[in-house]
Amino acid sequence: MAEHGENNGKPVFDKPKIELHVHLDGAFRIETILDVAKRRGITLPVLDTMRDLCTVAEPSSLTEFLGKFHHYMHVIAGDREAIKRIAYEFVETKAKEGVIYVEARYSPHLLANSCVDPIPWKQKQGDITPDEVVHLVIQGFNEGEKAFKTKARSILCCMRHEPKWSMDVIELCKKYRDDGVVGIDLAGDESLNCESNPDHKKAFEMCPISSRLTGACDPDFTKHPLIRFKQDNANYSLNTDDPMIFNSTLNLDYQVAQKYMGFTEEDFKRVNINAAESCFLPAKEKKELLDQLYKAYDMLKDTSF
Ligand SMILES: [Zn+2]
Repeated sequence: MAEHGENNGKPVFDKPKIELHVHLDGAFRIETILDVAKRRGITLPVLDTMRDLCTVAEPSSLTEFLGKFHHYMHVIAGDREAIKRIAYEFVETKAKEGVIYVEARYSPHLLANSCVDPIPWKQKQGDITPDEVVHLVIQGFNEGEKAFKTKARSILCCMRHEPKWSMDVIELCKKYRDDGVVGIDLAGDESLNCESNPDHKKAFEMCPISSRLTGACDPDFTKHPLIRFKQDNANYSLNTDDPMIFNSTLNLDYQVAQKYMGFTEEDFKRVNINAAESCFLPAKEKKELLDQLYKAYDMLKDTSF
C-alpha cells in the first residue's frame, strides 16, 4: 500500500482511536515470524521473499488472500512463546498507532496442535490446546496492556469450514468471558458476524484497504460504500482487518478515508465515539473508554453538565 503512504507516515488523525475488526493472525510482524522460525529450526525464505509471499499488493480474490496464511501460520502455531509474543507485540503495534482499545479476533484452533481435528498447517501433534491458546493470548494482551496502556480484548472465531470446532469456541467464550474474551465471530464470511452482547449497539466494521485488496468492493476508493455510510450518518468503525497481509497500518486506512472519501477530523472523532459505543466491553469500562475519548477530543459530554 506504499502508494497511499503519504504525509510521510504522519498520522492523519493523531488522537486516541478504537479498532474493532482486526485479525490477530493477520497482524503478526514478518520479522517475528522469521525470528521464531530460526529458533524452531523451520526453514523459511528471506525477509523480502517472505514479505512478497505473505502480502497482497493488488486487488485480488478472497481465495488468494486465504492462501497467504499457509506461508506463516505453521511457524507461530503450536509454540507457547511465539503465541504469547505475537499477542504482546500486537498491543505494542496498536499502541504506536494511537489505538487505546482494540478487539482482536482469531481462531484458537488455528494456533493449536492438540485437541484439534484436523491439526492445522500440517503440524505434528503437540500439547497446545485451543484452550491454552486463548490463555496465552490473554497473557500477552495483559502484559502488553501493562507496558503500553492499550487495552486488547479477544473475539474468538468459529471457522466456516470446520463447524465441529464451534462448540469448543462457544465453551471457551464462556470460560474466559470475565477474563478477556468479549465476543464470538464466524470467520470466513465477514458479512455474517454473530457476535452477541446485551449492551451491543450494532455497527458496521469498515476496512477500506482490506475491502479493496480482497476484491470485496470496487477498487476505486471514491466509489467505496463508506462514503454513503458517512453521508447517512450510519454507525460504523474504521479498521485494518489484516494489516500484515495488506502491508498496511490503521493510519493508512485513515489516510484513504481522508484523501478519497472526504473524512474530516470531526468525522474521525465521530467514527471513534461510535466504535467505543459499539464495542463489547462491559458497561463500566465502556463508559471509561468514552470519557477518555471525549476528553482527548475536547468534547464535553452533554449529559454530564
Ligand atoms: Zn475480517
